[in-house]
Amino acid sequence: MLPFRLSAAIVGDAERLAIENVLKTAYFGMGEETELFEQEVAAFLGIEPKQAIAVNSGTAALTLAVDAAVAAVYADYQNQLSKQYLDQGSYNLPYSEKPQVLVPTLTFVASFQAIVAANCQPIACDVKLETATIDLDDAAKRLTDKTIAIMPVLYAGNPYGLTEVRQFAKKHNLRVIEDAAHAFGSAHKNQKIGSTGDLVCFSFDGIKNITCGEGGMLIAFNDRDIIRATESRVLGLTGQNAVRFTGQKALNPDVSHCGWRFHLSNILAAIGRCQLQRLEKEFAPIRRNLASLYQKRLENLPNLALLQNEASDYIIPQIMVIRILEQQRDKVKNALQKAGVPTGLHYRPNHLLSIFRPAKHLPPLPKSEQLATELLTLPLHTGLNEAIVNQICDIIEEQLITK
Ligand SMILES: *Cc1c(COP(=O)(O)O)cnc(C)c1O
Repeated sequence: MLPFRLSAAIVGDAERLAIENVLKTAYFGMGEETELFEQEVAAFLGIEPKQAIAVNSGTAALTLAVDAAVAAVYADYQNQLSKQYLDQGSYNLPYSEKPQVLVPTLTFVASFQAIVAANCQPIACDVKLETATIDLDDAAKRLTDKTIAIMPVLYAGNPYGLTEVRQFAKKHNLRVIEDAAHAFGSAHKNQKIGSTGDLVCFSFDGIKNITCGEGGMLIAFNDRDIIRATESRVLGLTGQNAVRFTGQKALNPDVSHCGWRFHLSNILAAIGRCQLQRLEKEFAPIRRNLASLYQKRLENLPNLALLQNEASDYIIPQIMVIRILEQQRDKVKNALQKAGVPTGLHYRPNHLLSIFRPAKHLPPLPKSEQLATELLTLPLHTGLNEAIVNQICDIIEEQLITK
């Protein structure tokens, strides 16, 4: 087989032309293209333009979402602590005093680091074996008086259990920050991800369903979050919003709190605009066809399990993840590697990473640790074809069926 990637986004002449057009203008920072990209994503989702906040990565979107959630919680307390937070961030609080966010341990480390970057503690939760999505029974055991939010990860683009997460959050008075990095274009119960909810975060990095090169988008539904996030996106500068897309700067801006340099440049937004046009006609059918071919070929093999989804959900699969049981995973992985087929592991559980391992993580997280020995990510992107997928399935079949 020819060398090919595990994951990729495909760009071509349309994107090249769009970049050239931006380069012919005088301004490459956050400007007209960024505004148009926000408007077009908002139209795609059926929301108001101001609710779509373009940023330069999915990690940035997650950080702004957590930051907005914390700011809202402290603003509501209206006490000395909240004043300290709003003025300076919770930088001065000891780690163990910081607000907590429930998050599945089986996720990209970006989810955890965004929580830390916004001055909160990530609380690792276990996941369900069948779906690799957050296990709410486990999450319930980890609630404390400092829990302010839950961050479900829409693993592989699958919005499984989102309704239950929202009910759980309502019951426990938590914000919901969706890590929808994998799920741009997917829908839960006939509602597009990002068309409804609380705070929803997309990634447009180089391998996601659509790419900006690097980029992301925060979707926020209430005005307080929108103002906080648009300010925090550019270093907490106030009064920038009215002029933010004109390429001009506000006169005498003040700064009320620490933010970040998270805004999206015109160059990257121009790529994103082209990709958005191509998603439903071009990219989604290829991803969905290849994933369903994998499913058909693999569903009846011994010691192999596919991840479950809700029948009414519409999924644009971002990664193709299977479970290989009974310690057979590495054997299959090695056979694929020998044939030149790249594979991946999404993800090494965060509570096992050096940075987060010292925390207590009680109760333990056995299902995530089991999945880390079973999961295998197979190649899936818009540059692949059915012949390659069939060849990959032949190799897996040969390894799992003992003759
Ligand atoms: C890609 C990804 C992110 C981060 O997005 P970037 O744009 O790469 O910063 C966060 N969470 C998950 C699950 C991801 O796959």
